[in-house]
Amino acid sequence: IGYVGKSDPEVAAAMDKELARQRRNIELIASENIVSPAVMAAMGSVLTNKYAEGYPGKRYYGGCECVDIVENIARERAKELFGAEHANVQPHSGAQANLAAYFALLQPGDTVLGMSLAEGGHLTHGSPVNMSGKYYHFESYGVDEVTHRIDYDKVLAKAKECKPKLIVAGASAYPRTIDFERFAAIAKEVGALFMVDMAHIAGLVAAGLHPSPVPYADVVTTTTHKTLRGPRGGMILCREEYAKAIDKAIFPGTQGGPLMHIIASKAVCLGEALQPEFKSYQQQILKNCKALEEGLRARGFHMVSDGSDNHLILLDLRNLGITGKELEKKLDEVYITANKNAIPADPQSPFITSGLRLGTPAVTSRGMVEEDMDKIAEFLYLTATDFEGSADKIRAGVNALCEKYPLYE
Ligand code: PLP
Repeated sequence: IGYVGKSDPEVAAAMDKELARQRRNIELIASENIVSPAVMAAMGSVLTNKYAEGYPGKRYYGGCECVDIVENIARERAKELFGAEHANVQPHSGAQANLAAYFALLQPGDTVLGMSLAEGGHLTHGSPVNMSGKYYHFESYGVDEVTHRIDYDKVLAKAKECKPKLIVAGASAYPRTIDFERFAAIAKEVGALFMVDMAHIAGLVAAGLHPSPVPYADVVTTTTHKTLRGPRGGMILCREEYAKAIDKAIFPGTQGGPLMHIIASKAVCLGEALQPEFKSYQQQILKNCKALEEGLRARGFHMVSDGSDNHLILLDLRNLGITGKELEKKLDEVYITANKNAIPADPQSPFITSGLRLGTPAVTSRGMVEEDMDKIAEFLYLTATDFEGSADKIRAGVNALCEKYPLYE
């Protein structure tokens, strides 16, 4: 920010404010995290100056010998971390990774079976407003209306009915373990290819704390900035037989020059994820999520599927008479950041919602532990039930907690 301030005080002032906001707020957005200074520094580096269309050893530009080293390190670490045969580290984002995977595996109009956005899937899994839904014929599966878990028998029945060329597993708001082996068996039974978007759980998978999709899926896509705690970006892992098709689908299929500074940062992040401390970090994410779940349950909160196996919780707020939109706004005012989220069969529109999604990756990166989660559960409870009477008290509590765990100092 210092460098920016010298030449552009206007932008630097906004960046400073954002740093202050991150320091002041408890960050509960399940898809966000706080990167290490090394991951951050690689992003803000001279590698942003370099054009490197193509892949290491086969570029369309001169002067790529140094960035080739960087991209090879990232690819090798990704393969080692996830036990994958091939890795493409160039996708600019999770959405780009998914788009490229479809481009590699499908023809326009092909049928794909994915998780419905309304019940936990992602926009890129066939939403009609997304390119996936416009170019391919997506059918969807959801969760059981009572247990809120994926009903694999129903997925199989749906797959038999619509005969997809590809089945997509993975979600943005599903608090339970996904059975990739079962999905793969369903795909095999109906002769479909199988893709997993593990964006949310990639860090847990890397640490062996969620079953890995890599042995079961033909292609695995991910973001690198959620539980994996890397730079904002995407990545694709696949079997060797799809390596060429995936690489061609990223470049020249759907992207131009790779972001070499981000790839350097991905390499640093993957290096961190290969260290033993990363496993402890992921274990703490799960412990914190369990503690948060218990604190919320003890205070009368209802949760979709009645709890969580992973890093996220989806609150069902209907018994408290507050919508997701209202609670998100009130939490903002007491310096807690979370996002409204539809619950299965939500009676409210996606702009209002009856749910709120919470996650523990960022607070865990900040150093918080189980006892802090109980305090956060209390802040959430007071905000939802007695905002007027408690706002000052909650802000004081949030301040005390954030000061206990300083950020980037
Ligand atoms: N896939 C899943 C499951 C996600 O949750 C997300 C982002 O929230 C994405 C893909 C898209 O990632 P990005 O925002 O980097 O495009």
